[in-house]
Parts: sequence; structure tokens; C-alpha cells
Amino acid sequence: MSEKQKGILVVVSGFSGVGKGTIMKKLLEEHRDDYALSVSATTRSPRAGEIHGKSYFFVSKEKFEDMIEKDELIEYAQYVGNYYGTPKEYVFNQLNDGKSVILEIEIQGALKIKEQFKDTKLLFITAPSAKELKSRLENRGTETEDVISFRMNRAVEEAEEIEKYDYLVCNRNVEEAVSKVHTIIQNCRFNNLDE
Ligand code: 5GP
Repeated sequence: MSEKQKGILVVVSGFSGVGKGTIMKKLLEEHRDDYALSVSATTRSPRAGEIHGKSYFFVSKEKFEDMIEKDELIEYAQYVGNYYGTPKEYVFNQLNDGKSVILEIEIQGALKIKEQFKDTKLLFITAPSAKELKSRLENRGTETEDVISFRMNRAVEEAEEIEKYDYLVCNRNVEEAVSKVHTIIQNCRFNNLDE
């Protein structure tokens, strides 16, 4: 095939603690040439092991508001008291380069992206049960009890909106979830070529 495949924009959302980050990390390790993962800006503090520029661009509230002002973000939202947003430049460069770009963002941002770019595919990662979700959040050990409770409440709100997503993937085990996510994206990409 001589034609260069078009990359597509894929939004991956999921309840806090569901394992999105782990799935995305593995997907990129296994299929480095196919995907680019967008790095968001946030005003939340880094967790242990998170790296500036890789996990997130950790910025002050002032800097974030300056990025909004200068129209440097495709979308942004507030989540449990902090700003999160997607810088434009990297996403557009990677799409032009033929890669499918994955945005790991929450629901408000996902819907804003879909509004702007109609071909975007929305994928939602679920956990096998609410109990399992809570225990994954607790086992992560990075959040206080209050934050865990805020995040569980947020999950309840999010559950009401998941019908707006194109695909749901249950994260029973990481290998299986990675394989499902990859198959879905490749099928979407292939169908886009036919359009
Ligand atoms: P966390 O604090 O757990 O890293 O992220 C909290 C939530 O913010 C997650 O649902 C994550 O997907 C979402 N998020 C991360 N980056 C962005 C972004 O750039 N925009 C939006 N709207 N949400 C984001």
C-alpha cells in the first residue's frame, strides 16, 4: 500500500483509578509507530514518579489561565478542583505526521473535542464493578481518603454520560484491554480510509 494512512483522533476516558494510564502506556510500548499520546497541562501537583513533560506539564493556575488566554489549548476542563487541558500544537503535528493521537481526558473535554472534530472516536474504559474501582483507587495509594471519595462521586456522575461514547472497554486485565483498544482504533482507522 503506497498511500500513507491518515491518523485519527481518539479520546480515551474512564473512571479515576480504572487503569487508563497503564493501558495507554502498554499500548504505546507495543505499537510505538501507530500512536502518539498527547501530554496535557494541569494545575494539580505531581504524584510520586510523575515526570514534567511526560506525565503532564505541571503548571501554575496563572500559567494555565495564560494558556487559555493565548488560545493554546484545544480544550480544557476542571476536574475535582484542578484545571486540565490539551495543548494544540503537538496534537496537530502528530496528526499531520500520520499518527493516531490519543487524548486521555475526562468527559467534558471529550465532548468538546467531538464537537470540534466530528470524526473523533470516543472510548470509555470501565472497571468490572464499583467495588473493584474503589479498591484500585485505594491500592494506588496516591490519594487521600477525601480525594478518593470525591473521585468516586465523580465516577457516579460520569456513569450517567457514558452512553455518549462510541465504545466501552472493560479493564478486567490489562493485556486484554490493550488488545481491545488497539483493535477498535485500527478498525476505525481502516474504515476512515474507505470514506
Ligand atoms: P488525574 O488527576 O487522575 O491524572 O486526571 C484526572 C482526570 O483528568 C482524568 O479523568 C484524566 O483523564 C483527565 N484529564 C487529563 N488530562 C486532561 C486534559 O487535557 N483535558 C481534560 N478535559 N481532562 C484531562
